[in-house]
Parts: sequence; C-alpha cells; structure tokens
Amino acid sequence: MVTKVIFTFAIFLFSSLQRTEASSHWSYPDRDLDEAFPNWGGICDTGTRQSPIDLSVSKSLKGVFDELKLDNFNDKQTGVTIVNNGHSIQLANFNNEMEVEGGPLLDDYVVEQIHLHWWSEHTINSVRYPLEAHIVGRNKRYANVTMASNFKDGLTVIAVLYHVSNERNKAIDQIIDYLEEVKEFDKLNQPVRMKNPFVVRELFPKLNGYMTYAGSLTTPSCAEAVTWIVLSETFPVTLKQIDSFKEVQCEEKRTLKNNYRDLQKVNNRPVIVVLPEEKSAAGGANPLQLSVGSLLLVLLVSKFL
Ligand SMILES: [Zn+2]
Repeated sequence: MVTKVIFTFAIFLFSSLQRTEASSHWSYPDRDLDEAFPNWGGICDTGTRQSPIDLSVSKSLKGVFDELKLDNFNDKQTGVTIVNNGHSIQLANFNNEMEVEGGPLLDDYVVEQIHLHWWSEHTINSVRYPLEAHIVGRNKRYANVTMASNFKDGLTVIAVLYHVSNERNKAIDQIIDYLEEVKEFDKLNQPVRMKNPFVVRELFPKLNGYMTYAGSLTTPSCAEAVTWIVLSETFPVTLKQIDSFKEVQCEEKRTLKNNYRDLQKVNNRPVIVVLPEEKSAAGGANPLQLSVGSLLLVLLVSKFL
C-alpha cells in the first residue's frame, strides 16, 4: 500500500515537473537543419482557433466596421525598454498609454508590449514577408495580460508586415541600435532603456485597410484570446536589417535565426477584409488591393472567354 502511494506520488511529481518544463521552456526549430516544429503542449497542440494562419484574400469576407482608432501612437515615448527574452526582441514600458479601439473591437485595449518576428508569422495569399511586428493590446476590462488571456475578447494584436526593400526602415533601425546591448545569451531578460524617444506610429505605414480574424497567441500558452488585426499595407525593411536580428542569441551558442510559428489550420474561421474607405494616392504596397484588382481582372477575362 505504502509503495503504491509513493509510486503514485512519484508519477504525480514527474508529470507536474514535465508540465512546468513544457510551459517554461519552449523553442523554435532550426529551419536551416529542417528540424520539425516542436509540440509546445496544451492548447498549442489541441486548439481549434490557433494563429498564425495564411490570410487568403479570395477566401475572405468583406467587412465594414467603425473606424479603427490608434490613440497616442504618435506620442514620443520616453524610457521604452528593449529586452531579448530568448524568443523575440520586445519593447515595453510606454510612459504614455496607447489605446486601440473601434474596427472589429467592442472594447478599449491598452498597448502592453511590442515584439518582432523574423520572417513573418502570417502569410498573405501564401506569401511570407521578412518581418512582422506585433503590437499587443489588453482589453481594459481585465487587470493584466494573464487574466485577459482567459477570455475570447481579452487581447488584440495589430500585426504589421514588412516587405523587402533597398530602403532602410528608420524605426526598425532605432531598435537595431540596441541589439548589441541585448543580443548575447548572458543579457537574456535584462531590459535596456532606450535613450531617445520612440514613436510607435513610425513602426508602420498609414492605415490602409486590414484583415481581421479570431485567433490565438502564437507563443505558449497559445491562448485563444486574440482579435487579430493584420494591416494590409506593408512597410519596407532591408534584408541587411533582418540579418541583424538573426544574430540574437536564444540559448548559449545558439542564435534565433527565425522565430515564426508554423501556419495553423483555419478551421472555417471567417477572415474579414476591411478595405480602406478611400484609395490611397501612392507609395504603399498593399497586397490586398493588388490581389482584389487581379481577382477582378481574372473575373473580367473569364467573362470574355
Ligand atoms: Zn508575436
């Protein structure tokens, strides 16, 4: 009997240790070595509303919402911190509260942190971009991100995709300026304060439509609590800039060459395209408009065949 109790206790201890291990240590595969994408455990493996997904314009629904508002995004944020958390480079500690409201959101969301994925996590019409920024907002109804992640409307993430260009991205350069100070393994989880003010709005182009769907965090816990807002217009970045991020260390002697999760099943979730009210004059690259344009062309051509 005593042996049985001890044995049961040992099993319990072992399984709880395994759980702790699963939630605290997770990683991305080395794609150069064709490593398989690991199972992160829990809802990451069993969920049905996971992210990222491929955003297919032809399979999307057209939607019209109130204007999407980004409040205080143009403010000069001082004392912003940059940290290498072993999975990404993350910015936090914004002294002026930034809010996201309107669009598909029914509540006000406050920006908690911004981080980057090199190559993009979402793809648009199966095209992967070199960089994706995630601006993570918490529904103000909930006290913190952990609590918010228990609710379907708990979080919103604005995703900005960047396209390859010869033109260096100045806002991304402001982040790269601090990589030397945080990229080494022994600097992990040690935030560095930015010396110059940082304007978050400069990280992305003008709002020119977006795609929205209900999904999850793309890192463990993979909580299905995220209203995704992926901006249609992409912003330039150079491949040399991306190379700087590939030097970030995630473990001793191992660099974070990529930090994007594999595409997840859409599972009949509606993806809604919100087109800009007025067509912008020029300058931006809008893959949605291009795609809708070419779709119309195909339809027109097929009529005459
Ligand atoms: Zn992310």
